[in-house]
Amino acid sequence: MEGPGFSPEQQNYLKGFMAGVEARRGALAPAGGGTAPADALRAAQDATIARGGKLVPQEEAKRERHPLDRWSEITARAEAGQFPKPIDDFIGRFHGLFFVGPAQDAFMCRLRIPGGILTAHQAREVAAIAEQCGGGFIDITTRANLQIRLIPAGKGPEVVMRLGEIGLLPRGTGADNIRNITASPTVGLDPREWLDTRPIVRALHHHILNTRDLFGLPRKFNISLDGGGSIAVLEETNDIALSVVRVGGADRFRLGLGGITGHQDLATPTDVAVLPGEVVKLCDAILRVFIAHGDRTDRKKARLKYLLDAWGHARFLGEVEAVLAHPLPRFDIAAMQRPPAPDRLAHVGVHAQRQEGLHWLGVVVPAARLSADQLRGLAGVAERFGNGELRLTVWQNLLVPNVADVAGALAALAALGLSTDANAIRAGLVACTGSAGCKFAAADTKRNGLEIASFLEERITLDAPLNIHLTGCHHSCAQHFIADIGLLGAKVEQGEDVLPGYDIHLGGGAAQEARIGRLIRPKVQAEAVAPLLLNILRHWQADRQAGESFRDF
Ligand code: SF4
Repeated sequence: MEGPGFSPEQQNYLKGFMAGVEARRGALAPAGGGTAPADALRAAQDATIARGGKLVPQEEAKRERHPLDRWSEITARAEAGQFPKPIDDFIGRFHGLFFVGPAQDAFMCRLRIPGGILTAHQAREVAAIAEQCGGGFIDITTRANLQIRLIPAGKGPEVVMRLGEIGLLPRGTGADNIRNITASPTVGLDPREWLDTRPIVRALHHHILNTRDLFGLPRKFNISLDGGGSIAVLEETNDIALSVVRVGGADRFRLGLGGITGHQDLATPTDVAVLPGEVVKLCDAILRVFIAHGDRTDRKKARLKYLLDAWGHARFLGEVEAVLAHPLPRFDIAAMQRPPAPDRLAHVGVHAQRQEGLHWLGVVVPAARLSADQLRGLAGVAERFGNGELRLTVWQNLLVPNVADVAGALAALAALGLSTDANAIRAGLVACTGSAGCKFAAADTKRNGLEIASFLEERITLDAPLNIHLTGCHHSCAQHFIADIGLLGAKVEQGEDVLPGYDIHLGGGAAQEARIGRLIRPKVQAEAVAPLLLNILRHWQADRQAGESFRDF
């Protein structure tokens, strides 16, 4: 620092500057040395090691350097036209990019759309990104979110940057992070709504995005808020399930914990019910307990459910109270009033809003896939006939809200090849990506789902709602365990051949009827599923009492 070219004043300034840098380095350095900053992730890993635990490879990768600091690795690979190797792919997922080989030699980018509310401006740019950097189509997910597929290696960073520029930065949409927050899609429109979740979802979304400690959890984490309303949001399938209740003269959110349907568990309601303004702090405290104490030595036991199983709810909530430094508000669960059960067909068709003369249109999206042209067209419909908003639902479709000229909007949708009409079978059809785009899948769920729907609707007419969910593997992205009919991808051995097929589950339920379905027939070859379901449905229709749903069967 000393030498020709620097005046004494400049040298003094530089000395002071460097002293400050060294001091900050010391304050940030982890206790065990290394270069990563001391944060909640590092502290939790240190504690695991101190207890004699061996970190799984994903934890080692996070420990090597915080994944949020590894964006330059992603851009360098893109410049070289390379896709990442598995552990680098895990790091890339912190930034929303998933390498989905060998199913597709491409990236998939999963967005982050809090509450599923999308503006026409955003929808147009997503369509343009899908066209210019992806396969020209967009998939709607069961977290009221969008995915862009068939992204070449060199285009990954451009997709992420362009999404960030329209307020849809896909940070933390994969790997061990908090996924897109879901909430009632008819918020602000619905005559049945109890609480407006929008300000809470917005605050929570930005709290997560802007809190570095909340990236790098032991495993993925889901949060959902049900404010009442006509369309179920399936909050009971989330790690944190916040359900509106009326108690002690106020509307609050009852806390449920540990939902993970792939492991056949729904969130367990607790006696904790917080005011809307307390939700962000509560979620933050729960996350911090999970970050500090979740299992980092066994990926199969790393979800919140397993910490709850090991500790029990009383101890877990005690730890949450310790983080908050105050007791949680508790009430008698039996005294918590719930809103009426949702309408199972409110996500499709035309529905009157609480604003006189306005309607939301529930648009059917076959196989949950839109072309770029259709999404651009929907943006136009939303601007011309609504208020410029689109609302995605967990039922893999979308709403156009605030429509006065219903006939005009329906005609504009028809011109896009879209409609709000769906029979009971199509309305309740949910399918994950499947083998066409996911390496874990044992079956082509989207294609099989459409084939099953066509087969059934040609042969039977149902006058009651029915959910058929097809999931390609045990990750349960389409939540087969809560469907009336849940199909889980399975490999079926026939002689020397291994064929795609499904384990068939019956009797799952959601919302006020939430329950886990039971396996009735394992390993049915894909082609044999539709005839078997037809028999079951005919049997049900013949035997059912008036008003009885499939869930009562
Ligand atoms: Fe892929 Fe399995 Fe999820 Fe289907 S359920 S999208 S097969 S990970």
